[in-house]
Amino acid sequence: MNNYKIAAIPGDGIGKEVVAAGVQVLDAVARQSGTFEADVTTFDWGSDRYKATGSFMDEGGAEMLRPFDAILFGAVGAPDVPDHVSLWGLRLAICQPLDQYANVRPTRVLPGIRSPLSNVGPDDLDWVIVRENSEGEYAGQGGRSHRGLPQEIATEVAIFTRAGVERIMRFAFALADSRPRKLLTVVTKSNAQRYGMVMWDEIAAEVAKDFPDVTWDKMLVDAMTVRMTLNPRSLDTIVASNLHADILSDLAAALSGSIGVAPTANINPEKTAPSMFEPIHGSAFDITGKGVANPVATFWTVAMMLEHLGEAAAADRLMKAVERVTAESRFHTPDLGGTARTQDVTRAVIAVLEGRN
Ligand code: ATP
Ligand code: MG
Repeated sequence: MNNYKIAAIPGDGIGKEVVAAGVQVLDAVARQSGTFEADVTTFDWGSDRYKATGSFMDEGGAEMLRPFDAILFGAVGAPDVPDHVSLWGLRLAICQPLDQYANVRPTRVLPGIRSPLSNVGPDDLDWVIVRENSEGEYAGQGGRSHRGLPQEIATEVAIFTRAGVERIMRFAFALADSRPRKLLTVVTKSNAQRYGMVMWDEIAAEVAKDFPDVTWDKMLVDAMTVRMTLNPRSLDTIVASNLHADILSDLAAALSGSIGVAPTANINPEKTAPSMFEPIHGSAFDITGKGVANPVATFWTVAMMLEHLGEAAAADRLMKAVERVTAESRFHTPDLGGTARTQDVTRAVIAVLEGRN
């Protein structure tokens, strides 16, 4: 029996509610599997802790996570803490030291959920967006001078390294190669951004030589938003820089029906440290404490975590159970136009897993 040590970091707002639901479902999958156990340790890191102590996490927090097999993360962000402070204080403070350089965001229209695009069925919008997760526009480099004066200047420097671009490109080509359509779209803005983005294009062409079975093309990010909306079937695997993929994946989440169903994984492909799995949505304080957060994104996140741990059969069982439940509108939370509550959806998924439904 495999015993996985999972670190849970619920964080802020609805992060606490959806991670609690995710852990209930993880326990149910483990019980049913009979092949593995999941031993969950919860960390109370987040904005409450920051407001009380000045720090989002324990001293050396990322190092405390190293012994774990995987990390389940909720959300970070609070109305009275600037977003850039909480993002850098917790999420990036984990992703960067643990070398989780590949951010993977699958998109699919789950059964029973309607895309805002007309005539889009479950198989027509089946994408994986790969986001460079360690450098680029979010390298944190830049500064401000003459603060508050008319001549104030702020710089925000994007840093692209050959090593950083090449490793994400290899990851994306390999992922595309593993999917049935073997199709990759490399997104840049190399017409207007003449250095880093041109290097992206060059490295894509170099790496492509090692993946002869993959059909690939290049798109400018602005044209890509049009293609995602008007010709979604033409896409499969997508790779883009930190900023561009951040924006495209919110669009993808919206096109898949709700931000409340979209998962993401921060992967350390070499497995030199644990990877981190989280819903793409934030802490959503407008619905916090009401018990109506959609837990589907987190369930899908748990399935990605199981897949990464090597429990493909359990991941598949969980996704099938989730799809059985989303297919029924009585289990839709308000973001999907329904009246179900977080716990209704959670209990329904567990009932399917346990064969009671
Ligand atoms: P953050 O600042 O942490 O990013 P946010 O307040 O910007 O959080 P998001 O979580 O990014 O909010 O989502 C935007 C809106 O989408 C929320 O205000 C919320 O109403 C809705 N939403 C997000 N996640 C969910 C969910 N899991 N279930 C239902 N609605 C959600
Ligand atoms: Mg937000």
